[in-house]
Amino acid sequence: MPQKKRRKRTALLVLAGILAALALTAGALLLFAPLRPSGRQVLLCGAPVSTMTNGLRAYVCTDALPDCGIRLEGTTAELDGVRADVGALLRDQDGKQYLPVRSLARKFSLAWGLWNGQQYYARRVSLSEPKAGVQVPVFMYHAVGDDCWGEESLFVRPAELEAQLQYLQENGYETIFFEDLSHIEQYEKPVILTFDDGYDDNYTLLLPLLEKYQMKATIFMIGRDIGGNRKLTQEQVLALTRSGLVSIQSHGWSHHEMETMKRPELLKEMFRSRNAIAAASGRVPYAVSYPNGRSSERTRKIAGWFYTYGIRTFEGVYVTGSDSMLIERIAVKRDTTLEAFQAACQSAGQPTALPQQTP
Ligand SMILES: [Zn+2]
Repeated sequence: MPQKKRRKRTALLVLAGILAALALTAGALLLFAPLRPSGRQVLLCGAPVSTMTNGLRAYVCTDALPDCGIRLEGTTAELDGVRADVGALLRDQDGKQYLPVRSLARKFSLAWGLWNGQQYYARRVSLSEPKAGVQVPVFMYHAVGDDCWGEESLFVRPAELEAQLQYLQENGYETIFFEDLSHIEQYEKPVILTFDDGYDDNYTLLLPLLEKYQMKATIFMIGRDIGGNRKLTQEQVLALTRSGLVSIQSHGWSHHEMETMKRPELLKEMFRSRNAIAAASGRVPYAVSYPNGRSSERTRKIAGWFYTYGIRTFEGVYVTGSDSMLIERIAVKRDTTLEAFQAACQSAGQPTALPQQTP
């Protein structure tokens, strides 16, 4: 190689070395820069948590992790039975320990999103195709209360709801979430209880009954109504989810009928409600109940991009393996008798042929 060329190559190598060293030093300086409050909060699995930063990444204090449902022992974190090593922790001058939010989210495959200008990290529920041909009665309720402040038929009396739960318990029925359909073969007599609209009595009157009988229910919340008049607040949505007895799913964003909606509107309904519920409950919803139960082919196609299950109000018993975007329900109203409720439970867990479904 000519000497001139060799000298040029050496100079380039030296320059590259200097640049790499500078970059490493800058990185190390940032990495080990003292943590300071970022002035921002993130919603981590539904819990609002203040973050710290060193100018490079956002960190959460390990003291806040129990509020998010995360347990930490040494450098092993656990969330809903999933354990992950979180690596080295940073310490501030007061001895408090911190973890980078993003790497924590990666370890638990949390979904990231923005809601009302706030970042959220929410758990994803893993779902798989249920074994086909099992009958699962899905009951549809709305509000719970003796006093009706609205459409009377939509209010089930607490005492009557309790009698229904008692019947389920005494007769070996198992209340499940839609996600439990993934392992439906584990249940002998599965039924699903659903409550549409997200009324605040679902927190004050329904939850104590679910706790008493250890039963599960799914609430379909209207995205924009979180915190609205007579509706569940963000805190109640989180508390219900944390109880382990309630799954919060989507009832759209505005509660407008989706059957006649155009594509941009449908996208907004699906996306915004999913975001609002994921932020508030800390779990990404995977089911949508169509307002008034009606949907078009377009509704179901777009709903299917965001959700695995689409629920309607059509009277009938859902059979696993049939169209998962056209799930039938059985309405339980104020005048539904206990005998009618009992009769509707009978097919739970029984095998059957797939039905011919009409939208
Ligand atoms: Zn509704």
